[in-house]
Amino acid sequence: MQEYDPYLAPFTTFGIHASAERIVSAESHDDLVKIFTEEPSARILGGGSNVLLSDDVNGTVVLMRIMGRTTVREDDNHIWVRFGAGETWHDVVTWTVHNGWGGIENLALIPGTVGAAPMQNIGAYGVEQNSVFDSLTAYDRKTHEELTYSASACAFGYRDSIFKHAMKNRAIITSVTYRLSKHPIVNASYADVRAELETMSVAAPSIKDIYTAVVAIRKRKLPNPADIGNAGSFFKNPVVSRDVYTTLKSHHAELAAYAQHDGSYKLAAAWLIDQCGWKGHRRGDAGVHERQALVLVNYGTATGAEILQIADEIQESVRERFGVELEREVNVW
Ligand code: FAD
Ligand code: NAP
Repeated sequence: MQEYDPYLAPFTTFGIHASAERIVSAESHDDLVKIFTEEPSARILGGGSNVLLSDDVNGTVVLMRIMGRTTVREDDNHIWVRFGAGETWHDVVTWTVHNGWGGIENLALIPGTVGAAPMQNIGAYGVEQNSVFDSLTAYDRKTHEELTYSASACAFGYRDSIFKHAMKNRAIITSVTYRLSKHPIVNASYADVRAELETMSVAAPSIKDIYTAVVAIRKRKLPNPADIGNAGSFFKNPVVSRDVYTTLKSHHAELAAYAQHDGSYKLAAAWLIDQCGWKGHRRGDAGVHERQALVLVNYGTATGAEILQIADEIQESVRERFGVELEREVNVW
């Protein structure tokens, strides 16, 4: 367990200036028991890449720093590896690709920790973490017990899980076990990935090629939080019924949408926001990124309240123009 100065800016990718009463790291289950017995309402933070601080935090912020990579099981086709919740997600992806184990290569360069990955069932380029998820362990801050969750118990959905609902502020994820493939089948379903592979002159991609392509695209397209504060996509892509989609499409031929297995349609939130004229909008140091309308940014000294104000106005204008409700993806503290 380690104590830090109580300033939160270095611990979130938005870089908002705010403080907590205390910042402490948890490196073991015993640390969690000690901290949460003393203060059951303390907040848990991983890499801080999906949090917006709207104000100072009353109480303790606990940095998840439980590490470890352990092979749990292995057969001819798969390997099951348990990762400590404090492991850095991208380092884990790089390590699995290096070992030739497939399944999470499309999720390269997503910031944050392993422990936060199941929270919103992270996804990118046609893959979500639940496709290789086996189980997780969590500390129950109410009973102080260690819980084990199977995939079905996690109720994974599109950027969603039970940890955003019934177990919100209760289960603290301490480890996640993934079942990785020794004979991976790659996913190059997204146009950007296919185009990048073409540029790389790769016809039959390996997981390493997919990883390299995704890293290159993301470095080019997304603002690096080290340069401009942001938390990635601020809103989820809205999923609407076929009827709503058909009506919208009849009025907006260019509407960017993707059919889902259940007959609904996922609309590209970035397109909706862009159509409302928000891309590149700046007010003081708060704004909307100039290349990515879904990404709200802090150019330096923006407050959480200023970012939230823009987010609210974006939701309002998308509602007015398209009748579509945007839901926040970022966790507002
Ligand atoms: P934090 O921001 O620290 O925490 C997020 C929430 O989870 C908080 O409410 C926190 O209390 C809770 N939490 C954190 N750790 C635990 C734990 N161990 N147990 C219980 N609760 C916990 N997301 C995607 O899905 N796909 C992307 O492609 C993607 N790209 C991104 C690109 C950029 C540039 C950025 C800045 C963000 C991106 N994100 C993306 C969002 C973010 O990286 C992910 O949601 C990531 O999983 C958050 O991890 P974190 O450790 O930083 O979580
Ligand atoms: P993009 O490739 O320009 O696509 C725009 C949107 O259309 C994406 O949100 C994506 O939905 C959807 N889409 C594109 N091709 C699709 C296909 N073949 N099938 C189904 N849906 C498709 O998106 P981008 O902004 O550059 O981001 C690329 C990937 O990284 C996306 O998967 C995105 O989710 C992920 N990303 C996420 C965050 C975050 O913070 N959550 C930040 C940056 C990037 P999906 O979002 O459902 O994939």
